[in-house]
Amino acid sequence: MSSNSIERTLSIIKPDAIERQLETKIKKIFLDNKLNIVDSKKVQLSKKEAEEFYKVHQTKPFYEKLCSYLSSGPIIAMILDGENAIQRNRDLMGATDPENAKDGTIRKVYGISIDKNSVHGSDSLINAKAEIDFFFS
Ligand code: ADP
Ligand code: MG
Repeated sequence: MSSNSIERTLSIIKPDAIERQLETKIKKIFLDNKLNIVDSKKVQLSKKEAEEFYKVHQTKPFYEKLCSYLSSGPIIAMILDGENAIQRNRDLMGATDPENAKDGTIRKVYGISIDKNSVHGSDSLINAKAEIDFFFS
């Protein structure tokens, strides 16, 4: 794979960030960093839908809490595209735990805790495709 391929990735603004009205600020970060927002929608998942979305984590001790949280309020699901969109979105997001995230990353600036970490981003091409299909098919 070329190192500068145009990719699509799925981004989610999680309930903690929607609740604090951070949608516009977070979207601006993507746009300022040359990630186009191809599509965007506000939805609230059922618990079952959240379990389906996060099924890769079903054996983890935090799975139940994670799925309850993701379905606890409205979220914004977005398709982002751009060069190396998957990795560049991950870089903009920062580490899973906001405490470990680099300065200036979305999770460092806006994240509250490891569970309320404001954003989701696909971690691979295969997961990006599956996650985009989950929300936009
Ligand atoms: P990321 O969102 O950075 O890709 P993971 O895919 O490992 O992280 O985990 C999915 C989500 O599960 C994280 O964003 C976080 O909200 C939650 N999570 C991960 N690890 C933990 C943990 N140890 N305790 C509580 N929640 C966690
Ligand atoms: Mg992940």
